[in-house]
Amino acid sequence: MNPGRVALPRGFESDLRHTWNRVSQPDDRSETRLRVSSEAVHQRRRRAAGAGALALAAFVVWGIASLGGGSSSSAPADAFASRIQAIGGIGSGSLLAKVTKVDEAAIDSVLVTTPYIVKGGGEKKAVALTFDDGPSEYTPRVLAILRNQGVSGTFFSLGGLISTFGPNSVSARDAGNVIADHTWSHPQLPTLSIGEQQSEINRTSAAITALGLDAPRLFRPPYGAYDQATLAAAKKKKMLLVLWDVDSLDWSRPGVDAIVNNVLSQVQSGSIILMHDGGGPREQTLAALPRIIEGLRTRGYSMVTVPRLLAEDPPRAGETPPPVGAGA
Ligand code: ZN
Repeated sequence: MNPGRVALPRGFESDLRHTWNRVSQPDDRSETRLRVSSEAVHQRRRRAAGAGALALAAFVVWGIASLGGGSSSSAPADAFASRIQAIGGIGSGSLLAKVTKVDEAAIDSVLVTTPYIVKGGGEKKAVALTFDDGPSEYTPRVLAILRNQGVSGTFFSLGGLISTFGPNSVSARDAGNVIADHTWSHPQLPTLSIGEQQSEINRTSAAITALGLDAPRLFRPPYGAYDQATLAAAKKKKMLLVLWDVDSLDWSRPGVDAIVNNVLSQVQSGSIILMHDGGGPREQTLAALPRIIEGLRTRGYSMVTVPRLLAEDPPRAGETPPPVGAGA
């Protein structure tokens, strides 16, 4: 690949002038069907999410019980240590692996009713911080802020950057964040053939799994621009398109105060908030992030990954996507 093509300084302002043939309602007939049945599906999803939350709580209890007394208290010290390592680590028996299964079930459940989401259902005071265009040299500093604040985010990553910054994606996953797909080279997808679109998505997925991470189940099209071919390519990989309802506009570097205000003035329950950990200088994003987190906390919002948002507060089908060309 040509790193110069991927490591954007981005002339995104000029891109905003283009309009692309994005399909905002993927299929009129299915949309009608979705509307008719959305109430019933919503109820079902809510029950499924409740079951998911219960299962998660059970895993946590199981993890704590496994660490504490019971039968493990009589086990040899080295077995006890390896048990702790298994639960706290990233192997197949780890708590992280169990949480991942709950997350995947939540994504599967949403995909039954819609190929894309804009926000959560809005019935819980939870929001998702999302970071696009990394991994980059800024990613570790974003991760340090999230870790210090005790919150997790979702990172929509460019496959073309993973050969250079892949270890930052691994660190992000190990810290409880979710790694998602944002194409290989950040193209306007509707200008590409379906084969080219598949390649953009699938190569990135392969680069992520080559790091030892789970295959990404979430995909965000650059500039929010997609068409039927994009939806077909994502469906083939069982990926959910994740758009957003709050754009921090951090990519345009409008100043730290403006970034903070863009988020806090628009946020509502279930919001998916668009920020960037790559794609250009991100000092303003880094300065704004702690203030955004503090402001969200003050307003009573918890900050969760996108899959956790789906599990705890399932989205409604048929939300209006953001304007094409905005952010991402
Ligand atoms: Zn992007």
